[in-house]
Amino acid sequence: MSAASRDTEAEAGSGLRLAAGLDWLDPLLDHLLATVRGHATLLHGAPGDGTHDLAWRLGQAWLCEDRHPGVRRPCGVCGSCRLFRQATHPDLHALLPEERALERGWPVEIKAGRKPSRQIRVDDVRAVIDGLSRTSGRGVGKVLVILPAEAMNAVAASALLKTLEEPPAGTRIVLAAAEPARLLPTILSRCQQVRVPTPPAEQALRWLAGQGVDQAAVLLQAAGGHPLEALALQASGIAAARWLSLPRQLAEGDPAALAGWAPPAMLEALGKLCHDAMALAAGGGPRFFAQAEWPGGLELRRLLSWQRSLQAFARHAEHPWNEALLADALAREAHEALRAPRRAASGPGAPA
Ligand SMILES: [Zn+2]
Repeated sequence: MSAASRDTEAEAGSGLRLAAGLDWLDPLLDHLLATVRGHATLLHGAPGDGTHDLAWRLGQAWLCEDRHPGVRRPCGVCGSCRLFRQATHPDLHALLPEERALERGWPVEIKAGRKPSRQIRVDDVRAVIDGLSRTSGRGVGKVLVILPAEAMNAVAASALLKTLEEPPAGTRIVLAAAEPARLLPTILSRCQQVRVPTPPAEQALRWLAGQGVDQAAVLLQAAGGHPLEALALQASGIAAARWLSLPRQLAEGDPAALAGWAPPAMLEALGKLCHDAMALAAGGGPRFFAQAEWPGGLELRRLLSWQRSLQAFARHAEHPWNEALLADALAREAHEALRAPRRAASGPGAPA
């Protein structure tokens, strides 16, 4: 079976929403299937490189029921793979924040009037442990997917320790984390850690072109080389042309420069812009906005003060901002940091 068939049902309307065609993950998936022996595997990598999608696929492959030699698992077509994709497999368990569950198409019940949680809560952990203690529905084993593992608070993580060490018979656990250093050492010591690499730019660009992304190189650079993040930028309305015009628009004080962006996206973009402006002011090259039109006369002193202010905003990124007021305030600050320097008075009396 070819690698492409792994994505057979990737575009199905209902059920789990997984990204299709992430072929840079195939060799690692094959390697994991051939070598993983422990109960718990921790995938260490950026979500923008497909790390979360790999975690789901690994779980799907463990449950896949096509055991014919030469078949690349997950086969995508057996009964188990179908149930997996519909998120109705009786032996598939998952822990993810409610907000992420909704994005992924993983079933969650959220009481009316309550906002979806951004954390994995201890009650969720207890419910999953209870589910894992029951007999396997299809007899192939049980799988628990946890992502991002950093979303477990200390209480939730502690509740999971015993299961990580000694899971119920036939259970395999896969976790994903961008920053394993933020996990409890007791969690880390119970997992086999595997690094998920960023794909080579050429492969990432091919995938982005296949997703209909215009000027994929600009957005891939904007996303620091992480292709799924580049696709998300375009999906959030930040096209390449808009990205490239951002430094000049802000330097010129265009009040509409940030209009329509969600606060986290605004703060992320401005952080990258500030990083690049400081690199340029210090005589280096930009990293995220290489092809952009840059204003002249960048001054490190003004950029440093802008950076401090952005860091203060970023600490409150989840605050329920009024988006229009925030966009306006941030655009004014950016203008002050990026505008051309005010000329000293010149004329007959001015010093030479
Ligand atoms: Zn299968």
